[in-house]
Amino acid sequence: MALLQISEPGQSLDPHQRRVAVGIDLGTTHSLVAAVRHGVAECLPDEQGRVILPSVVRYLEASAGGSGRQIGFDALAAQVDDPANTISSVKRLMGRRRDQVVDVDKLAYTVVEDSGMAQIDTVAGRKTPMEVSAEILATLRYRAEDSFADDLFGAVITVPAYFDDAQRQATKDAAKLAGIEVLRLINEPTAAAIAYGLDHGAEGVYAVYDLGGGTFDISILRLTRGVFEVLATGGDSALGGDDYDQALAAWVLQQQGIAADSLDASARAALHKEARRVKEALSAAPQENFRAMLRGRVVEQTVNVADFEACTEALTARTLSAVRKALRDARIAKNEVQGVVMVGGSTRMPVIRRVVGEFFGTDPLVDLNPDEVVALGAAVQANALAGNSKDGDLLLLDVIPLSLGIETMGGLVERIVPRNSSIPTARAQDFTTYQDGQTALALHVVQGERDLVADCRSLARFTLRGIPPMAAGAARIRVTFTVDADGLLSVGAKELISGVEASIDVKPSYGLSDEQIAKMLQDSFSTAQQDMAARALVEARVDGDRLLVATRSALAADGDLLAADERTTIDALMAEVQARLGSEDAAAIEAASEALAKGTEGFAALRMNRGIQQALAGKKLEEV
Ligand code: ADP
Ligand code: MG
Repeated sequence: MALLQISEPGQSLDPHQRRVAVGIDLGTTHSLVAAVRHGVAECLPDEQGRVILPSVVRYLEASAGGSGRQIGFDALAAQVDDPANTISSVKRLMGRRRDQVVDVDKLAYTVVEDSGMAQIDTVAGRKTPMEVSAEILATLRYRAEDSFADDLFGAVITVPAYFDDAQRQATKDAAKLAGIEVLRLINEPTAAAIAYGLDHGAEGVYAVYDLGGGTFDISILRLTRGVFEVLATGGDSALGGDDYDQALAAWVLQQQGIAADSLDASARAALHKEARRVKEALSAAPQENFRAMLRGRVVEQTVNVADFEACTEALTARTLSAVRKALRDARIAKNEVQGVVMVGGSTRMPVIRRVVGEFFGTDPLVDLNPDEVVALGAAVQANALAGNSKDGDLLLLDVIPLSLGIETMGGLVERIVPRNSSIPTARAQDFTTYQDGQTALALHVVQGERDLVADCRSLARFTLRGIPPMAAGAARIRVTFTVDADGLLSVGAKELISGVEASIDVKPSYGLSDEQIAKMLQDSFSTAQQDMAARALVEARVDGDRLLVATRSALAADGDLLAADERTTIDALMAEVQARLGSEDAAAIEAASEALAKGTEGFAALRMNRGIQQALAGKKLEEV
């Protein structure tokens, strides 16, 4: 597919006519705004020189006066004292119903279901996730306008590759509330790849490993003729840097012989805050002192990198199993991946860089700041879309993942926009009536790669009425499919002789989950799919088996560390893995292995503790 050229050659604007166009990374934990200045993308700082804006909004009681809310660092600082009105991680609520939000009951604020969406109750009233996000976006908009002393022309906003239509629409709505013109939504991994200039590099397959604060995303992209196609996405929406903090905090408590459930919420919050600080320090130093006030006494603990890596090992391993799964879904062997882009603050942890490098057998790309890389790539796109870039600069375009077509006689599909067409696109095709005197034509819009309507997904139906009665085959009905740059489809039908028309907006690809898309693609190559399932099963069995062997030997060595009930729990988890190994269900085996891995985390910490004590016991004091 040839690239569409958006800026006319020779029509680039004078420097003083440049439009202010920015890229915005609207993150779960942090958000950033970046722009191209003097030909280079850079993140824009606030008045205090900080480029990161915590994605946190605190609502104050209306009677308290002032603006009624705090945004960013101020809100973050207030979170410990006012958790119920301080909204963090609102991205997880965007475009979701309450029952679709993972672990919604664990959030410190109250989420209710209202008007078909998750909303938040605060002292300042009920807020939609779009309103909360709009506060963050508006803050970044003002930052950009202040820094250029000009109005914002528009922004490219990034979203996770797996965001569905509702989540993308919610993001656009939030931008609208913030008074921002959305030039385009682009996928976060695509933005990261653009920031590294991979779009100008060798064609091939790239992986984007994004470990943020609360989520892990892995994307496998294929670059062909300058266009990135998302081959597969995966990850874990409940695994991120926060979990590393938790694991470290739990380890410290264990070292100190403090029971976690003896702590109140504010002590726990203080503990996690300190754990996070220590974790981040350990990315640059071999050891760090953990210091927190717990139950009126100062708790101190020296933590070295080896302790930290050991108590978080299971988390790191979970990211790699998600990588393996995404590669399987994309049907790509890991040695076919020619570059790995690291994104997200948590990829600063040296252990992550090391294991990812070992896994792919190639050094990951880490030259750009992992917090900034998504915003920087979005800025490059925004600059080009605003017409600021140099002559001949081409734009990367997304492609549609599944073909779009309409139903014709006999339940067959006439494909109008083929899969992998770059967007935006418009295609038309002429049809006619099949009965004498027919005055209406029912149109059925479908999506998929199969030839029978029954095997494709139905997107929409509408009817063109008012066709003047003619002989069968005389009417000329032109059906036009238009897919805009955000992947939203509209379909129009017009009878060319009489001029009557009808149209409808439909939501194509993004209404499907990535799994559904993957499945529909797989079904069109059914034999290959069986191979894949077989491979997944073999891998799940091998992994489960390996875990059982490791657990058994740990129990043989240090089983005496466990209380009887803890031992019973682990035995039950092992029995479950053992039982699943014989089944044909790879997912069930993986789930059982996962449960065992999680269930033995505490035991692993106890063992490590003993190991350290034994090591120390063997030495004289002066050697320590
Ligand atoms: P998100 O995309 O979820 O908004 P970010 O990409 O901003 O998240 O990553 C935030 C996470 O990165 C936090 O868990 C934070 O502790 C972690 N992080 C930031 N700097 C470091 C560091 N130097 N070492 C380890 N982790 C870090
Ligand atoms: Mg991120």
